[in-house]
Amino acid sequence: MKNIIIFGAPGSGKGTYSEEIKNRYNMGHISTGDVLRAEIKNGTELGQVAKGYIDQGQLIPDELMIDILAKTYDALPAGKGVIFDGFPRTIAQAEALKKMLAERGHDMGMMIELIVDEETLMARLLRRAEIEGRADDNEETIRNRFQVYHAKTEPLSKWFESEGIRHAFTWKGSKDLMLEEIFAGIEKEN
Ligand code: ATP
Ligand code: MG
Repeated sequence: MKNIIIFGAPGSGKGTYSEEIKNRYNMGHISTGDVLRAEIKNGTELGQVAKGYIDQGQLIPDELMIDILAKTYDALPAGKGVIFDGFPRTIAQAEALKKMLAERGHDMGMMIELIVDEETLMARLLRRAEIEGRADDNEETIRNRFQVYHAKTEPLSKWFESEGIRHAFTWKGSKDLMLEEIFAGIEKEN
């Protein structure tokens, strides 16, 4: 399988669809958000640094994030495609990912963009706040995350377009329909 980059706003379903894709095609999965939350839970030094940014809805600095990503990637079993969920989030991270993969003789594969209207996103994140109790799922922090997304992450959509690997899927109110379209998109590329 080709590598897959899952891209979209907070709450767009990156984690949900990554899980479905991973199970269907037996791929590796890196969620940078999950990696950071595990570090926080284990009380590591990295976790302490990360918590300061996450609780404010800000991004972890690029150099740190790129380092974490490369280590996580190298720890995965080779030979399967990998799903990148929540990385890259800046142009610098995207350039670094491309370079890191090229150095290993791999490539980015395909990028899947999840397009969801902001009203739906906010409703999902507030509901997740009640269920999972994530510290950064409160209305003020969510607003910051949307702002950061628009300022730093959204411009990457064009970057992927110019790389010729962007595939966009728009939420039309049904998870099953979205999945069907995504699976068809993946199978066309493999
Ligand atoms: P969802 O998973 O529902 O789409 P999300 O994108 O807001 O929501 P995560 O991907 O879990 O959530 O990220 C949570 C937080 O972790 C981010 O707000 C940010 O602080 C930090 N983080 C995760 N990935 C990165 C990254 N690639 N670069 C910088 N910070 C990151
Ligand atoms: Mg996530």
